[in-house]
Amino acid sequence: MDNKTLCSLCGEGHMTPRTENTVTEYRGQQGAVSLQYAECDVCGSEIVGDAEGRANKRAVLSFRKTVDGLLTGEEIRAIREKYQLTQAQAAKLLGGGPVAFSKYENDDVAHSDAMDNLLRLVRRSEEAFWELVEEKQLGEILHRRPARVAHYAALDIVYVALTVRTEKPMPAQRANQLSYLTPHRSAQFEASQWMQ
Ligand SMILES: [Zn+2]
Repeated sequence: MDNKTLCSLCGEGHMTPRTENTVTEYRGQQGAVSLQYAECDVCGSEIVGDAEGRANKRAVLSFRKTVDGLLTGEEIRAIREKYQLTQAQAAKLLGGGPVAFSKYENDDVAHSDAMDNLLRLVRRSEEAFWELVEEKQLGEILHRRPARVAHYAALDIVYVALTVRTEKPMPAQRANQLSYLTPHRSAQFEASQWMQ
């Protein structure tokens, strides 16, 4: 036989999972939400159990987030995975408490406007993400920061010439601390007459 749950009302029939698209309204906006329930094949009772109830609550909250202009749980998960963060690391970096991201991503809880703005910022800018990691000194993530590729304009090369002239030793730079303003160490420069 199959392993379907026995109907708790008639005790004879078995429950079959069903979904129904329901139109719901939030803040004057209508949207279709897929709701789950189980139907008895004997007495026809429709029952919403714990699991279905939880799923329905998430579906409704997901719709409300969209109307409120907030990122969906799926979008938040994608941002976290883009930066290869665990949910705990994401909370350490962005806030919200230790289990916040599990709740956000499962649409159990709506995140704040401030969290939404922060998430959108780091989604848009990897630089912003890494600056935040550095600001929070999250060593477990910081060591992954990619070395930045710097492009030097002619103006920066003049700076190299002046550095060489004063014979100041250049401090060794760790790859993840390279600043855009730091001249490339291997740059060779012939100082022109007027500089000597
Ligand atoms: Zn029944």
